[in-house]
Formats: sequence, structure tokens, C-alpha cells
Amino acid sequence: MKKCVRCGKAIPCTRKKSSRYCSDECYYEAKKERSTRRYALLKAPADEIRSNESILAYLYDISVMDKPIYVADLIRYNFNFSLSTEEHLDDKKRLFKFIGKYGYHIDREKNLTIWKSK
Ligand SMILES: [Zn+2]
Repeated sequence: MKKCVRCGKAIPCTRKKSSRYCSDECYYEAKKERSTRRYALLKAPADEIRSNESILAYLYDISVMDKPIYVADLIRYNFNFSLSTEEHLDDKKRLFKFIGKYGYHIDREKNLTIWKSK
């Protein structure tokens, strides 16, 4: 006998043959659970993108005061290096990874350059 994929109870034969749930209640609850999960997945990157962008904004403000900034600063603030929304080359052919308005470039000496787009 087939079992409900949500609660594990046997699926009554009065249900459609293709049904994966024992009742309408399980069907709707499972649907609700799926969309809650999907929402959590969508929301996490948005929060992380925002957090990445504010780290870059902060370091950008430091760099315009002619203070050096380093990759270590990003690491210290838990920057997520796997997130970027775009990539651009500057006039010196350096690759900048962008998150929102801010792009960053890391050179061989682990110096950090931040570019603020208009
Ligand atoms: Zn069920």
C-alpha cells in the first residue's frame, strides 16, 4: 500500500491513484511547507547581499581617506566571497566583482580596491 509522503499514513483507496498524500489536509500542509522553505531560500541571499554591500560601503569610506584596506578586512567582517551580482573590468583591466553599487578587486599582494559605481 502507498504511504502519504507527508505523514506516513496509508493513502486510502478513495483518493486519486496518483495521490502522494493521505488527505487534502496533508496535501495543503505540504504545499505550505514547501513555499515556506522556498521563501527562506530566497530570503537568505538577499540578506547576505545586503550585508556584503554594507561591508564594502564601510571599507570604501575608509579607502577614500587614503587608508589601505586588505582582504583580511573583508574576512574580519565575514564577507561572503561566493556572492556577487556582476563583474566589470576597470580601465587597468582589473576584474571587479560587484555587489550592488560596490565592486572589489584583490591584487596579488592581497590589497583590496573598492570601486563605487554611480
Ligand atoms: Zn498524510
